[in-house]
Amino acid sequence: MNRPWADHALAHELDIALAAVREAGLLCRSVQDLIDPGTLQKEDKSPVTVADFGSQALICRALGEVFPEDPVIGEEDSADLRQAGNEPTLEQVVGHVRTQRPEANTDDVCRWIDRGGAKEYSPRFWTLDPIDGTKGFLRKMQYAISLALIVEGRIEVAVLGCPNLGPALIGDRGAGTILFAIRGAGAWQVPMTEEGSPTPVKASGQGDATQIRFCESVESAHSSHGDSARIAGQLAIVAEPARLDSQTKYAVVARGEAEAYLRLPRDNKYREKIWDHAGGVLVVLEAGGRVTDINGKDLDFTQGYTLRNNLGVIVTNGLVHDAVLETIKDLGVGQF
Ligand code: AMP
Ligand code: MG
Repeated sequence: MNRPWADHALAHELDIALAAVREAGLLCRSVQDLIDPGTLQKEDKSPVTVADFGSQALICRALGEVFPEDPVIGEEDSADLRQAGNEPTLEQVVGHVRTQRPEANTDDVCRWIDRGGAKEYSPRFWTLDPIDGTKGFLRKMQYAISLALIVEGRIEVAVLGCPNLGPALIGDRGAGTILFAIRGAGAWQVPMTEEGSPTPVKASGQGDATQIRFCESVESAHSSHGDSARIAGQLAIVAEPARLDSQTKYAVVARGEAEAYLRLPRDNKYREKIWDHAGGVLVVLEAGGRVTDINGKDLDFTQGYTLRNNLGVIVTNGLVHDAVLETIKDLGVGQF
């Protein structure tokens, strides 16, 4: 594979992260293939549990082998999985992990998962969402695997696996794309399943706010659809919003398929989790975009596992960022 980042000081970190996310993506796809599209299965959350733990196990194994000193702030730990009654689930997780790592046993898998159990800030750590957008996973639509390395509070390396995203955002289940970035060096994408050459990704050049398309969560509980509609009205945006689960929304802005991603708080209490953003943020920044909270503040990754100092998240191609922030202020969005 052609590696334009080869001379970067963190090239090895990126290579390891990329290979780990690819392994996890293949596991997630094979678990998802087993989901019965019948309506009865829709209430059954076990496939996402299996893929979630399996993905975290594979990625933490890879990081632990090469960077044993690095803490990982991940979304999962194995406590639930080890509880009496959950043996069948644990067995399934181990079975799926073995498709990628045939040597794995039950203890290894639990140990790998628990490597992702850090909670506190440290000068160098990884943050991982093994499956972001669990609802999208169950719907067989978009979800993501998000991994980022944070050094001195700055995201330096990011890998965003989008196992159902194709080369363009058409249809719901493409063959998978991995987007990734190193600070200062650029952002690229590669097909998830092949060893294709990476191609650079670039945010949209649209500067006319009336002509933009924005994306937002499918779940209105995660972002106010009412407020985004008010913002769209005020800016006279013509296009309908694209509703997508997971950090795939960052991928779509990074590739120029939408100009903005609005995540508008429903209350003053919820704090965004770092693993729901870190991977996506650097990919968008290196694609030429901009990311702040709804008040225009940079996201603060020094506060442990939450973005305690921020409210909501606004992601754009950069060109329309100020117009969106001004509209938010004018309308009093997020003033609770
Ligand atoms: P999305 O797929 O963009 O809707 O976001 C999924 C993520 O939303 C999950 O990983 C959760 O961590 C996060 N989440 C859960 N509750 C909330 C909430 N009240 N506001 C914002 N995000 C939330
Ligand atoms: Mg998540």
